[in-house]
Amino acid sequence: MVLGTIKGLKLGELILKPDQLVITAIKEAELKLHDPIAWDINLLSMDGFDGAGYYSIDLKPIYTIHRTYELIRSNIQHLPQKTRKRLDRKYRRREKNRVKDQLHKISKRLADKSHIFEYLSGIKDRVARTKSKARNRQNSKHNYRMLQKYVEYKSAWNCLMTIYVDPKNTSKTCSKCGFTSKDPSRSRTFKCKRCGLVMNRQQNAARNIWNAFLKMKGVGFPLNGAKLYDKPAMNPEQVEGGEAQGLSSIRINT
Ligand SMILES: [Zn+2]
Repeated sequence: MVLGTIKGLKLGELILKPDQLVITAIKEAELKLHDPIAWDINLLSMDGFDGAGYYSIDLKPIYTIHRTYELIRSNIQHLPQKTRKRLDRKYRRREKNRVKDQLHKISKRLADKSHIFEYLSGIKDRVARTKSKARNRQNSKHNYRMLQKYVEYKSAWNCLMTIYVDPKNTSKTCSKCGFTSKDPSRSRTFKCKRCGLVMNRQQNAARNIWNAFLKMKGVGFPLNGAKLYDKPAMNPEQVEGGEAQGLSSIRINT
């Protein structure tokens, strides 16, 4: 038997069953860059910029799911250990499924474009555990990585690539003049001390992610510090340790 490629399909595993031979195939496709949007992901929204206009996707539904189950869990603390453990497992499963459901909805709507995200390591820093209990509780409601993976996976099925850029200073840098502030304010508005630019903090970050992407394009892929995915993504269901975030409606507010 000759194993090889059949019109864009590459043979995968051969599984021998008592009465048949199952031949699996891997879809091989070249991923294209199409209509890219650069996204800054935060707890309650993801904000995008595509070189011309801004986009915003509401992530509150995911936040609300986590918050709801957090309250439910605190309400069952007084129950006997066995009951509590059983209920806890049940609610965690439900929480996870509801979050996944939201992630599916969001990524489905984004599947016809290429997306530019910050590479995970920086996101980890941003949600790193801190001494503040309240802050840690907030951070546990993030599903950054899972969200990225879902979007990447769905776009890849449409042969569209997802690009990851170096997240360094995207929230501290002025997207107009490039000045990086050492002590940026955490307010909703970004103010540049050098050129005087005043704009929405998340939109400014999205612009910086867009700028990082343009720099990559200018010198050709791949670039140090930036990660380019050129093969179909892994099924996000298999990604461990993901955390959740939500989204509901996409709107353009130029
Ligand atoms: Zn500036």
